[in-house]
Amino acid sequence: MLEKFKAFNKQGKIYTVQQRISRLKRHVYGLLIALGIAIISFIIIFIIEFDRVSNYYYNEIAETRITNTGTERKNFINLYFSMAFQDLHDSHKELSYIDISDGAGNVDITKLKNSLNDPEIMPYFLENVGVICDDTAYLQNDVQFTIPKLSINSSMLLTGKDLNLDSDENLYFIYPKDDHELNGIDGHIGYVSKKVFTDKISTTIYNEESSTLILKKNGDFICVSSLIHDWRFFNFFGTCFTNLNDAMKVWVTESDYNRYMAYMEDPEAIIFNAGQDDRDGMFYKYELNVGDEDSTYYLIFMAPRGLLTNHAIHLTTICLVAFYSSVFIGTIGIYTLAILLVINYNKRKREEAFYKETGLYKEDAFFHDTQAILLQNPLSKFGLIYINIQNFSRINSYFGTIAGDKILDEVGKILSNSIEENPYEIAGYQHGDKYMLLLKGDIDDVLFKLQDFNEKLTSHNYDYGQKLVFSFGIKITDAQYALDLRGEFDCAKYSESKSGKTEIFNNYDQEMIARQKETEDINGRFEEALQNEEFEVFLQLKWSLKDNDWAGAEALCRWRDPIKGLISPGKFIPLFEENGKIVKLDAYMFENTCKILRHMLDEGERCVPVSFNLSKRNFQDLSFIEKYHEIIEKYQIPHELIEVEITEGLLVDNIDTFTSFIKIFHENDFSISMDDFGAGYSSLNMIHELDFDVIKIDARFFRGGFDETNQIIVSSIINLCHQLNKIVVAEGVENTNEVEFLKSAGCDIVQGYYFAKPLPVDDFKNLLFNKPENK
Ligand code: C2E
Ligand code: MG
Ligand code: MG
Repeated sequence: MLEKFKAFNKQGKIYTVQQRISRLKRHVYGLLIALGIAIISFIIIFIIEFDRVSNYYYNEIAETRITNTGTERKNFINLYFSMAFQDLHDSHKELSYIDISDGAGNVDITKLKNSLNDPEIMPYFLENVGVICDDTAYLQNDVQFTIPKLSINSSMLLTGKDLNLDSDENLYFIYPKDDHELNGIDGHIGYVSKKVFTDKISTTIYNEESSTLILKKNGDFICVSSLIHDWRFFNFFGTCFTNLNDAMKVWVTESDYNRYMAYMEDPEAIIFNAGQDDRDGMFYKYELNVGDEDSTYYLIFMAPRGLLTNHAIHLTTICLVAFYSSVFIGTIGIYTLAILLVINYNKRKREEAFYKETGLYKEDAFFHDTQAILLQNPLSKFGLIYINIQNFSRINSYFGTIAGDKILDEVGKILSNSIEENPYEIAGYQHGDKYMLLLKGDIDDVLFKLQDFNEKLTSHNYDYGQKLVFSFGIKITDAQYALDLRGEFDCAKYSESKSGKTEIFNNYDQEMIARQKETEDINGRFEEALQNEEFEVFLQLKWSLKDNDWAGAEALCRWRDPIKGLISPGKFIPLFEENGKIVKLDAYMFENTCKILRHMLDEGERCVPVSFNLSKRNFQDLSFIEKYHEIIEKYQIPHELIEVEITEGLLVDNIDTFTSFIKIFHENDFSISMDDFGAGYSSLNMIHELDFDVIKIDARFFRGGFDETNQIIVSSIINLCHQLNKIVVAEGVENTNEVEFLKSAGCDIVQGYYFAKPLPVDDFKNLLFNKPENK
């Protein structure tokens, strides 16, 4: 069996509310941690990958941009050079129109100098132009200087330094003479100041932080656009370095330098990246062929890498900020949402399962969690405890239900506070003044713990100074009964002691359980049965020994249950007396009896006075008299046909109320009988104190053989009653002996099976109209 439950639990996974909440918390927080790790890993991978990819694209962007600007610089410089040489060519052409010959086919220097000042010779790009003759350069405006011997085979670009001049401020353009020129002319020369040239080749893009360099093949600067501020390569170039190779050697690492050198030597290589730093330079290289191979120059356009990529970086930064912000906000959002969900779930589950005021379990949740706890601990014993506050209805009726609820809450709080921080022990509230506990352990453990509970519960100072008495019922149970916990709890309930003092009971038995169940069924079905008119009036005729005729009848209640059949009052009247439902039932019986009488009267049939039983519960509130009066009025029943039976026990409790009641009834001409007289032996002196019309001798005198003692008592009662002018009815008379004795003792009326049993209305009428035979 246990195996079955284990399998069930494995499949069904029953958890307590607390476990469900902590499981959810664990799962959600686990997921959040996993999500956090995933997000962090994603971000790390993203950063690494992004860095790699973005560097790649930044390089591409930087290369594209430097190539574009470099090409544009290249075109510009090429154009400038060709224009500069065009100036030389033009001046050479102009000179050819002028006679500068000495007549022997050589140059006449004086004529040459004069000719150079001819206004027709006007350079556009160069500042000055002239001719080279015998290691001397003759230029316009009588500029003349000696230069080293040059072999001028093609166009050349030289610095002052190359020409061994004192000043290195100018750039010199040299152009070869043509075949027809005079002896002594070695070539044409022009110059432009480096400053002017540099200004021309400089560009203002890239925040003027770029630089255009013209170098010799060996790295010597020919000119450097000087608009460089803080770029580390070039801070020193203008001042310290005259050679790019030297500068690079100082400023870059050895491997970068080697890369650089390889780049410079590779005629195909155009772009060079000096490093990955924003301030590192990006180079664009172009070979300026200004003459023969030896006079090859490099154009280098360089810009800080950061400047080339700044737009892309700016854009990427915006995207990254947007991306990280959304990841951050998204993550915070998910976390907040998850935490709110957990809090909400927690709150909802707690509201579903627990009473807010006391923290006690609600009934369903209590059984659910008890089941889970039992199944999770298949080897342990548990005590299922039912706790009841004795006579709690008294508090409700004296102080009102609000006060009652307050006290119930106090009890609840004590119970929930007394439960240890133990996941296997829980406390719940069932309804009314009933509480439930689950305690771990066998009967001894549970009893021991309950003593403690009881101590706390009874020693508490409750509102309105109430002292409470608790009764407990225990059922020791285990996982085998996990699927029938309500049944188990019923067992605990039925073992409760109702002794009125605190007692802890564990003495349920099957019979008692069956009895209790029946009791609950009866109580539970009362209202429905009343609605369905399952309660029926049976009438038992009374025989007058004096008149030899029917003297009256008693209305007795029967419950015709659709399933159980006819239920006798012994089973339900005591219950309804206990819980007060009897007041409703008595009124119902009274009205139905009146209905029957009305019908008989209307039919003109013979009628006898009918007595009906009035429970003592009616006397708690005398307003019932009003109601009964209305019923009598409604059915117009002659008052002499109504007799009220009141049991003896009632009188002891409530003598004053009863006196006023008798008075009212007598004023209305109703006859009143004392039922079951002699059963309590306490009311002998009340017979004359209270103004009864009829005394009904209890049927118990006639049981057990109707011995001599009983006969003496019965005849004494009859005598006493007669002396006090009361009519005497003997109840429960079953045989001729009893009848004969009663006749001789002078008893007035007899009620018993001997004459008539309690009968349904039709049978009652039949018997009433036909006297019994041989009686
Ligand atoms: P009770 O008022 O003393 O009614 C007489 C009881 O004795 C009836 O039992 C009746 O059936 C029974 N009885 C009559 N003659 C004999 C006999 O010869 N031998 C035996 N063994 N019994 C006899 P019943 O009908 O079971 O009612 C039991 C009690 O339930 C009544 O005792 C009465 O106290 C109460 N009761 C019945 N109907 C009502 C009702 O409508 N309202 C109230 N408040 N009480 C009722
Ligand atoms: Mg009676
Ligand atoms: Mg009786």
